[in-house]
Amino acid sequence: MAELEYFQFPYGSDNYSVLIHSADTGETACVDPGDGDAVLKALGNRGWNLTEIWITHHHGDHVAGLEQVKQATGSRARGPVEKSGAIPGLDEHLSDGDSFSFAGKTVNVIHTPGHTTDMINYYLPEEGIAFTGDTLFVMGCGRVFEGTPEMMWNSLSKLAKLPKDTVIYCAHEYTAANARFAVTVDPDNAALAERLKTVELARRNNLPTIPTTMIDELATNPFLRAGDPSIRSYLGMENASDAEVFAEIRKRKDNA
Ligand code: ZN
Ligand code: FE
Repeated sequence: MAELEYFQFPYGSDNYSVLIHSADTGETACVDPGDGDAVLKALGNRGWNLTEIWITHHHGDHVAGLEQVKQATGSRARGPVEKSGAIPGLDEHLSDGDSFSFAGKTVNVIHTPGHTTDMINYYLPEEGIAFTGDTLFVMGCGRVFEGTPEMMWNSLSKLAKLPKDTVIYCAHEYTAANARFAVTVDPDNAALAERLKTVELARRNNLPTIPTTMIDELATNPFLRAGDPSIRSYLGMENASDAEVFAEIRKRKDNA
């Protein structure tokens, strides 16, 4: 059961950042301060003092507010050790398997290269919460910019092993477009067809579709379902490897 408080807020055209707060210790973390003004406004709105920053990867829409927010709050920044792009302002560099403590809770670092080679995700096992950055989206996944499709498939496979009730926060509201694509490669999936309706309604009402849960993603996210017999037969790839099926689905989405 989650004991920390989570406050997700939008910025830019489709990004989300999250504040994580402990009422017990007064500590607050921010995942991906992509817009400094938006972070400071969210902190003011909640009345929380930022103590630390967690970065998933070097892309500007995730780090652009880092130095502004550090300066305004005196917080400390953690992020990936792998330097596929500069992240000025990091105080601590993390790699796969590292863990640290936040407000008495364990935070595990999972390296999920593919979108970028530096991508790390943050998993709080006692809370049952994961921050998947631009690796795993709702019914989608990040574009493979720096890695290979196989690398991205391995990264998604790592996340898929998290407990099924894990609550997943990701960095972009791409859900409706992802769902409309997902039905084109997984047309017989009733849960997916149902979820497409739900998310389109949510977006018409301007509601966020994030967070999601791993169990819903395993049921409806084609990028986690490369091993699914009906998707493989629909694509005519019964004898391909899971990574090859994943690569085909990713290619179709890129060209959609
Ligand atoms: Zn990115
Ligand atoms: Fe992004």
